[in-house]
Amino acid sequence: MTPFPRPTYAPLTRYAPDRRPVEIDLSDNTSRFGAHPGVLRAIRSASEEDVTRYPAVYADALRSAVAERYGVPVENVTTGCGSDDLLDSAFRAAGEPGEGIAYATPTFSMVEIFARMNGMVPHAVPSRAQDGGPLPEPEALLEPAPALVYLCRPNNPTGDSWPRARVQALLDAAGPSGPIVLLDEAYADFADDDFLQDAVTSRRLLVVRTLSKAFGMAGLRVGFAVGPADVVLEVEKSRGPYKVTRLSERAAVAALKDEERWVPNLVSEVRRERARLLEELRRRGLSPLPSQANFVLLPLAQRSSAEVTAALRARGIAVRPFPNVRGIGDTIRISVGPAKEIDRFLEALDGVLEAPAEVLEARGERA
Ligand SMILES: *Cc1c(COP(=O)(O)O)cnc(C)c1O
Repeated sequence: MTPFPRPTYAPLTRYAPDRRPVEIDLSDNTSRFGAHPGVLRAIRSASEEDVTRYPAVYADALRSAVAERYGVPVENVTTGCGSDDLLDSAFRAAGEPGEGIAYATPTFSMVEIFARMNGMVPHAVPSRAQDGGPLPEPEALLEPAPALVYLCRPNNPTGDSWPRARVQALLDAAGPSGPIVLLDEAYADFADDDFLQDAVTSRRLLVVRTLSKAFGMAGLRVGFAVGPADVVLEVEKSRGPYKVTRLSERAAVAALKDEERWVPNLVSEVRRERARLLEELRRRGLSPLPSQANFVLLPLAQRSSAEVTAALRARGIAVRPFPNVRGIGDTIRISVGPAKEIDRFLEALDGVLEAPAEVLEARGERA
């Protein structure tokens, strides 16, 4: 009998990001611009039935709202309890335990975990040479004959985007009966382009989106996926019934209808502040990576990400440290908030980078 816990799963630990309260939290890419007014109205209109009754089995009102907003047929849409739920369900739907999930690293840390949770084998393919160079050829991702290829575009945590032609080349190489190609578009709302329409007419492409970032709904846990109808159906079966609560579904429908045009306004502001943050960092002689997302990855050259993160926290600002990123070194990831939060971050960063490491240590600001 297999021992408990099963060996491929035993080394996994609980997800443990630093969630201690802080004045300005730029660490997790959720909305710094408040909540969508339509979402707040939906929550405030809660009835007793919203609490006592089950939600719709497969959130059909939400599927329709997605279909309407993006102009795609409803049979090409499924939904989930956050997009994490859809990644998990798609992995499970794509292959049997023991089969492979291939992905280009560095990328979203949950991918390896979802692969292992489902008894699948993670194949990390380095996407950056030591010089920070090119993304892997499609063949490198297909080489382990995976059941599913995962790509994050724009990529978390680097913020950059695979060139369109490279994704297309991967789809062509994968072929109509090859692995499922899962494109995680959690940050596509902030990007210049996406593959959502391509997913409808493709045979194998599944695009996964979240309402946790541009729609400001991380607390309500709603995600959706668009792809070929037969793929979407299998992912929905794998996901199971009753995954989106009644209140979350109503709130998500309001946010997707977006009568206030809240989302496009937020996206413009993020794009404007992102450009300004990049420019301010470059003006200081730093080399942030280009970003198509609502965050910026900043390589730290001589400083450690733990030290800089702790010193920023002591100044009331949380960022996410990414130590030892392949081809880049120690980095911090900064979510793009409103102008005054970016100003506060820059001021704090100046203080931290001016002080030598020894001074921070003496002040107890070192990790
Ligand atoms: C934030 C994020 C998600 C979203 O997860 P939810 O479960 O929808 O909150 C998915 N993928 C990536 C790469 C992310 O950064």
